[in-house]
Amino acid sequence: MERKRRVFMLAAIAGGAALSSTAFAQAKLDEKDPQAQALGYVADATKADKAKFPKYAAGQVCSNCTLYQASGACAIFGGKVVASKGWCSAYAKKAA
Ligand code: SF4
Repeated sequence: MERKRRVFMLAAIAGGAALSSTAFAQAKLDEKDPQAQALGYVADATKADKAKFPKYAAGQVCSNCTLYQASGACAIFGGKVVASKGWCSAYAKKAA
């Protein structure tokens, strides 16, 4: 009886953990987000506004930016997920 109860409790905990990880799945950054627009974020770095952001250089993408996290989130945008091939004017090359 005790064992059954323990198994039930573990299942309930595991279910709750699965539910909360879904509920807290990180939001994706929208290019139309006001902060994203202010920093010129684009999900496709090749579409960066080169006239407005002349510091953009080919090869600069989120995935090689120091602010890009392993989860795909960006520290600048409150942990929202950015495109690995994206870019914004806060780009800072990751140290090799
Ligand atoms: Fe991408 Fe870096 Fe800009 Fe974040 S700060 S959106 S990782 S280029």
